[in-house]
Amino acid sequence: MSPDLQRLIDLQRLESTIAEAKSRIATHPQRLAEADAQLAAANLLLESAQNRMKDNQEARRTLDKDIALYQGRLSKFRDQQSAVKTNKEYQALGHEIETAQKDLGGVEEKVIERMVEADGIAADLKQAESVFAARRKEIDAQKKQMGDELATVEASLASATEQRAALLRDIDQRLLSTFEQVARVRKGIAVTTATRDGLCSVCHVRLRPQVFQLIRQNDTIVQCDSCQRILYYVPPPPPAEGAVVR
Ligand SMILES: [Zn+2]
Repeated sequence: MSPDLQRLIDLQRLESTIAEAKSRIATHPQRLAEADAQLAAANLLLESAQNRMKDNQEARRTLDKDIALYQGRLSKFRDQQSAVKTNKEYQALGHEIETAQKDLGGVEEKVIERMVEADGIAADLKQAESVFAARRKEIDAQKKQMGDELATVEASLASATEQRAALLRDIDQRLLSTFEQVARVRKGIAVTTATRDGLCSVCHVRLRPQVFQLIRQNDTIVQCDSCQRILYYVPPPPPAEGAVVR
């Protein structure tokens, strides 16, 4: 392998690592925001149950005030009734008492309805709390994993950047400028392999036999006639010991 070619292959590997790491790092805030949005969505269900419980309790307080009001009215009428002089007044108050009792009975029915409702909401709330807690645990674990991944990718970016800087010091300037020129127009891939049947592995053009022959030797810098990428050859692995060669 020509040292020039080996350096270009190494440079390509480092450039690809750097590009992948940068794109991974760039998507990190978005992925973090998505995880938070999922948690917020899970929280909505819990909040809805909490709000229903709050509404129920407020309604209960209003009903309790009504009960106190009607009970006060009832006892006032009863006091008045025990002090009246005429039958007519007695009957009139009896009528008021009956109405107040009916009103009180109506409110008490509503209290029972609200109590039944509160039982249902309490069950929903408990369910929503447990769903939310499980979801939060899951999402916290995801975020932790994302943070760990980010640290790994950042470390790999730093290491690749350092190696690249060292490599650039040793690289032939003319070859480097060829590399950069091809990388610019070929989506960052300036070096690739020739396949074993003699194709450029990226643009798939068939290489001329004498060009392919040259590439197989890995001793010269050869560019693909079609896409201009610098090509090298990876020979097939030697057959494993004991394997039957056909
Ligand atoms: Zn090509």
